[in-house]
Amino acid sequence: MTLIYQSTRDKTNKVTASQAILQGLATDGGLYIPSQIPEVKLDFDVLKTSSYQDIATCVLSAFLDDFTAEEIAYCVDNAYDAKFDDPSIAPLVKLGGQYNLELFHGNTIAFKDMALSILPYLMTTAAKKHGVDREIVILTATSGDTGKAAMAGFADVPGTKIIVFYPKDGVSKIQEKQMTTQVGENVKVIAIDGNFDDAQTTVKQMFNDEALREKMFANHKQFSSANSMNIGRLIPQISYYVYAYAQLVKTGAIKNGDQINFTVPTGNFGNILAAYYAKQIGLPINLLICASNENNVLTDFFKTGIYDKNRDFFVTSSPSMDILVSSNLERLIYHLTGNSDVLTSELMQLLNADGEYRITDDMFKQLGDFYADFADEAQISSEISATFEADNYVEDPHTAVASAVYKKYALATGDQTPTVVVSTASPYKFPRVVVDSLTRSSAKTDDFELVKQLADLSKVPLPKAVSDLFGAPVLHHEVIATSDMQIAVTSYLELD
Ligand SMILES: *Cc1c(COP(=O)(O)O)cnc(C)c1O
Repeated sequence: MTLIYQSTRDKTNKVTASQAILQGLATDGGLYIPSQIPEVKLDFDVLKTSSYQDIATCVLSAFLDDFTAEEIAYCVDNAYDAKFDDPSIAPLVKLGGQYNLELFHGNTIAFKDMALSILPYLMTTAAKKHGVDREIVILTATSGDTGKAAMAGFADVPGTKIIVFYPKDGVSKIQEKQMTTQVGENVKVIAIDGNFDDAQTTVKQMFNDEALREKMFANHKQFSSANSMNIGRLIPQISYYVYAYAQLVKTGAIKNGDQINFTVPTGNFGNILAAYYAKQIGLPINLLICASNENNVLTDFFKTGIYDKNRDFFVTSSPSMDILVSSNLERLIYHLTGNSDVLTSELMQLLNADGEYRITDDMFKQLGDFYADFADEAQISSEISATFEADNYVEDPHTAVASAVYKKYALATGDQTPTVVVSTASPYKFPRVVVDSLTRSSAKTDDFELVKQLADLSKVPLPKAVSDLFGAPVLHHEVIATSDMQIAVTSYLELD
């Protein structure tokens, strides 16, 4: 039987996995979710010796079950290959009191590569399956890492175009240079004068704009999404949670069946939602620790049951988590309501209208899988230097958020459960805050000088993704008002 995906806002809107990937977002404004949790055989006596590719195949075949075995193999083989600079794809590193799961060994040295290396293959395979010959236009809002990873994945993929919007002052210099130097006949990168939430909201509006959709169809084009609202992003992310567990069994750190915690640095709630699905398929997870920066809307939500985005927005040293509207939380909300599209729509309408909603007591009681806390800028900085001093290991600021929150949690609770800190970016992506934290000073030099300094300090070889940037010409210069995003899209696509 084929697994059905349905919209969080309209249960009657049902599609298969490949259709969901092709569409990206449901046209009713909701997000597609699996209508039931598929059975995945998790035998860690076998999986402990499996490769990352084998584990990904196992997870993907269960969730994306209208793809054939050959199609899944084609996608997995092309995604997780030598473009990763570590043969294990997602190495697990043991530090003093925790394990760091390094998800930054792909093309753009952030965890977005784990899913965006495979999404273009899943999407073009899905298009072929359904005989879609319209051009697929990927429309993406980025808080810094998705944009580059999506462009790297989709650049010059036949039958696709990709348009990326990023907040002009909301990304690191390295992130910006990564994006503005992107080559490819089919890529367009535009900075906006707003923040990530502005970009994401406007992108969602374009998806839901019926007139625009028809105009696209008339021009033989259709939108899809490379944001984590697309289940083609979410499902591949389940694999590394299973893989991390398998590695712990393999090294004897835990016995098959032992519980572990994951601490996840969270922004749009995609990464941690994948961990939640990993728990649903039977991975022995004790707690999912949701770590935020000063934009701690999720911390408050898990503590009070009230989601309230009416608060100051902070630009922090972990920009990929500078988000006040965590889109994927809608999927968790839907599951908490007992799969009620009516109640989910109501809550999301409240969020839209008032910027705030409160979940029911019944829903709140089901949040026991989660623990949430946040780290402020000073805590992030001291976490980076403390980890370096204790373990001779350099964390990026996002990972440091998770690491700091985990240490606070362990201290407060005394919980001894082995814990994996999900490490989402290479420190080379954020050299300023990392070097400043390590040297306890405030560097005057530019980010590219700091990269060299970081190499000296950390002894970690400079990734090619960064060294390639030094001489790369800037190809994209456009900066526009948020309100002009749609005009930019229609003019780039030459819609008439
Ligand atoms: C995107 C991102 C996050 C947040 O992940 P979500 O899935 O949005 O919660 C954390 N760290 C880094 C480095 C990222 O790029």
